[in-house]
Amino acid sequence: MIPTVLPTYARAPLSFVKGEGAWLIEADGRRFLDLGAGIAVNALGHANPALVAALTEQAGALWHTSNLYEIPQQKRLADLLVEHTFADTVFFTNSGTEACELAVKMARKHFYDKGQPDRVEIITFDGSFHGRSAAGIAAAGSEKMTKGFGPLLPGFVHLPFGDHDALGAAITDRTCAVMVEPVQGEGGIRPLPDACLKGLRDLCDEKGILMILDEVQCGVGRTGKLFAHEWAGIAPDIMMVAKGIGGGFPLGAVLASEDAASGMTAGTHGSTYGGNPLGCAVGCAVMETVADPEFLAEVNRKAGLLRQKLEGLMAAHADVFDSVRGAGLMLGLKCKATNMDVVNAGYDNQVITVPAANNVIRLLPPLNITDDEITEAVRRLDAAAASLAT
Ligand SMILES: *Cc1c(COP(=O)(O)O)cnc(C)c1O
Repeated sequence: MIPTVLPTYARAPLSFVKGEGAWLIEADGRRFLDLGAGIAVNALGHANPALVAALTEQAGALWHTSNLYEIPQQKRLADLLVEHTFADTVFFTNSGTEACELAVKMARKHFYDKGQPDRVEIITFDGSFHGRSAAGIAAAGSEKMTKGFGPLLPGFVHLPFGDHDALGAAITDRTCAVMVEPVQGEGGIRPLPDACLKGLRDLCDEKGILMILDEVQCGVGRTGKLFAHEWAGIAPDIMMVAKGIGGGFPLGAVLASEDAASGMTAGTHGSTYGGNPLGCAVGCAVMETVADPEFLAEVNRKAGLLRQKLEGLMAAHADVFDSVRGAGLMLGLKCKATNMDVVNAGYDNQVITVPAANNVIRLLPPLNITDDEITEAVRRLDAAAASLAT
């Protein structure tokens, strides 16, 4: 008989009943160090007091009214995002997938309104992940995600990861945008080098097309800048955000320049829940913490500490691990052992990591993890690796 919960997930046999900062407490009382943060979502840890206060205060006042009316919390969060980024305007969603949907619509509408209705194609890259909607799976294009779900939404052109020459040749007068993750998450923590991102920006400018960055996983302080593209000193035209921005409350956003967003006039897009008072109240609390330069400096310092300890781990367990990669507190350990075996050995040692493609395990701890917790996490990873030694 089919389970009452549709069995689309391969779940670990763990059920957590409480969270405290970087710790998750299992129903049986065991305490796990959480280097997954709900897949880069709990950016400020579990049960963060500032976030709990923002949510409960809002919950006691007003939950939902719809976008038929002004939502002051939404305006405040949009103002914060605009103040701290390239963007002139923001649309709020409930997830990264919905942000992808709007990014696609916005790019196409931009050119439609400029009298170029044939510019509908969006270039994407192998190994990318943009969500599980019809547009999201068509954008990523992998067989794993698309098989059996056709006909796929047309208008996506898939290129090899990081092949600049292929990219130049693929841009035609039907191209409206390039969509890329500055650091691929699901694809196995693959950062696009700064020079590539700069080259991509130049190419988009030269060809007059839009640059869409998917910062759903790598954004909101994860790499040590508020948004990952800042490392390359460039700005996109459209950016997808979700995961960390809600700190665990479902919230996403599309940020855009005024020009890129010019087609999105009244009635062209909408969402019942998107930008509701609860989500935006929490989003404001997240932004007020993460956008602080001192907070980001601490993320970078801790990232350096973790990275250094992980290099030691690599050296000590060359039979289990191949290499470390990533940026800030978005790190991937390429494994020699099967990545799922390493994740499971982590569970046995009460440390949580997240598998990704390319036989990688991801370390995406809360951004406010402490130095002592980093030391303890690596000690537990060391024990997990030792248990796998061949
Ligand atoms: C998780 C993710 C998405 C999809 O976000 P959901 O909130 O799961 O819909 C899109 N893009 C990237 C890069 C992601 O990591």
